[in-house]
Amino acid sequence: MTKNIPNILLIYTGGTIGMIKDFKTGALKAFDFKNLIDKIPELQLLECQIETVSFEEPIDSSNMNPVYWVQIAEVIEENYTKFDGFVVLHGSDTMSYTASALSFMLEDLAKPVVFTGSQLPIGDLRTDAKENLITSIQMASLQEGGKPLVKEVCLYFEYKLYRANRSTKLNAENFKAFASLNYPELAESGVHLKVNNDYLWKPDSNKSLKVHKNLDTNIALIKLFPGISEGFLRAALATPNLKSVVLETFGSGNCSTEAWFINLLQETISKGLHVVNVTQCVGGSVMMGHYETSNQLKTIGVISGKDMTTEAAISKLMYLLGQKIPAKLFKNTFENPLRGEMF
Ligand code: ASP
Repeated sequence: MTKNIPNILLIYTGGTIGMIKDFKTGALKAFDFKNLIDKIPELQLLECQIETVSFEEPIDSSNMNPVYWVQIAEVIEENYTKFDGFVVLHGSDTMSYTASALSFMLEDLAKPVVFTGSQLPIGDLRTDAKENLITSIQMASLQEGGKPLVKEVCLYFEYKLYRANRSTKLNAENFKAFASLNYPELAESGVHLKVNNDYLWKPDSNKSLKVHKNLDTNIALIKLFPGISEGFLRAALATPNLKSVVLETFGSGNCSTEAWFINLLQETISKGLHVVNVTQCVGGSVMMGHYETSNQLKTIGVISGKDMTTEAAISKLMYLLGQKIPAKLFKNTFENPLRGEMF
């Protein structure tokens, strides 16, 4: 292991970045990670030592799930002392979910974990993969006084470094595929790498990394729409073993005031399920009580997701349910920021 220059572990999970076209079907599929590294000889020019580890079978991120999240967390846990930073190559489709989940699973993280991927495969002439990969490694290598500068889980795409649990995929076509509308970028790549120091997460340096692997997936995500039927909602909320629901509401956390709707939610909460309110908007915050159409939600004990992304709300729920937080404390715990995921 080389001293003085940062040691970076590259974790390849799959995604477009490492895919090639299947000539028979024309569809993109994952290929051997070694080829990926061969495609970027520039990596050898970076001022860091890079080691790589790959999922045995790289996956399209649409096949990602919490079992794989735990695998990624374990790779980081096993290699935590040996490396100064981690770069996770991941498909862009569910990258914000995985990266948000890892932010909760890695408590008191004091090193960078940078997720990245690309819209075009690394072998494509117009690929965005090289810039994303090279700059992610550079972001993960940034140091101050011999210590990593970035100490949180983030996502790098198209010149911007975002806090992972504030990011969301907005575009399946543009190279600028992600945004973080409720929190400023942590860093930007231009002629220089410009880091917004004030916005970086500052963990307690006296604490050491704790990796949480217990995630409870007995949750549901329900997006409201005008005309949603009682039959559908009742059936969804009656799902066996359901413990928690994320409701994607309108605007600043609003919903129908129809009696059947409010009564059904009240019934659900009194059965012991946690109902979390997040907005369908990509920016802005839930403000229950601001409009008449959200007042009753507040009264019946719906949890405010404030300005969280849906991705962060889903993974925070799985994490907190896995922590077996007592029912009485759950609402308060959820409504407070754990990793900078809400204001
Ligand atoms: N379907 C791909 C994936 O998420 C898309 C991408 O990598 O950008 O794995």
